[in-house]
Amino acid sequence: MSGGQFSGSSIPAMSDPQLLRVLTSTGEMQQELFEQARAIRHRYSGDEVKFRGVIEISNICQKNCDYCAMRRSNGALNRFRLDAETILAVARSILEVGITTIFLQGGQDPHCDPILDEVIPAIAHDLGAEILLNVGERSSETYKRFAQLGARSFIMKYETSDTILHNRITHGPLDRRIQCMKWIRDAGMKIGTGNIIGLPDQSIESLLSDIRLALAFKPNFVSAAPFIPNPGTPFQEQPLGDLDLTLNTMAILRIGLKNVLIPSVSALEYVRPGGQLMGLNAGANVMTINFTPQSYRERYRIYAQDRFIVTLNHAVETVKSAGLTVDPGVQLGIAASDTTSLKDNSMAQEEEQYGQGT
Ligand code: SF4
Repeated sequence: MSGGQFSGSSIPAMSDPQLLRVLTSTGEMQQELFEQARAIRHRYSGDEVKFRGVIEISNICQKNCDYCAMRRSNGALNRFRLDAETILAVARSILEVGITTIFLQGGQDPHCDPILDEVIPAIAHDLGAEILLNVGERSSETYKRFAQLGARSFIMKYETSDTILHNRITHGPLDRRIQCMKWIRDAGMKIGTGNIIGLPDQSIESLLSDIRLALAFKPNFVSAAPFIPNPGTPFQEQPLGDLDLTLNTMAILRIGLKNVLIPSVSALEYVRPGGQLMGLNAGANVMTINFTPQSYRERYRIYAQDRFIVTLNHAVETVKSAGLTVDPGVQLGIAASDTTSLKDNSMAQEEEQYGQGT
């Protein structure tokens, strides 16, 4: 197949059999797909990879997703919720290394909202950073308030577009998720979304629908992550999601959505060492570096007990290996910083990078 068949306009217009052939491509055809994805990224977004610094603010969750150890039924998990002072201290340490997007992520824990009401303006206005949130379903009024306080963007993943599967594994309706995505956009925030690949009972046809949903919604960010069987969940004995299907989905989304931000998620590295480099080679252009204080990090079991912790050093090396560039501000920040936070981040890499059972 020639690279032209992967052009941006043709992906949404492809029939299901055509798109299925691309999604399941291997060998030479898959390499052509990745090549086209990189060319589209270069043309529409350049070669710079955006860094985000994530702070995991709470592992408490109202929901009970079957794939996540932070589900409310998991009584074995030691729960935490960070206070505003801790969040602000970590946010400052992220800014010190030149990362200007502070990503506040947590379970669906509305008791975080008074803390968010305090830290969003402090980070956005006092510290001058961009705020990205991923804290779950809320009312339209709450999304508007977060936006008015200074939050610029919000991630709300649909996980799977299969309404029956979605309902079964998240114990909530897909409609509600889609409604939240619309409320977030209506509130004036950029919207990120995404799916999980390899969920139990997920058909290949439903993965096509996932792609079509993302193409139709036109999010500002979109992710694809492989399913990982998470200890302490009903899915702990299920097989890993397929890495190639995940990478192919990322490449298709890059070609179809052109200048969207696509993260190379840490789960890729968990599934295979070098997986995040493969993600960048498939068209991704975002790396999320973990700044959650060490004592809380291990309790944030979003996809695994021994999840891969992305450090600044790992992210920089991965970007360089892909032949891409790091934000000059981050390079200056790294050069100028001898902060404890950076040392802590580096130590974490040494301790954890190769201890993932990969
Ligand atoms: S995936 Fe998110 S919403 Fe679902 S249980 Fe885990 S933290 Fe809660």
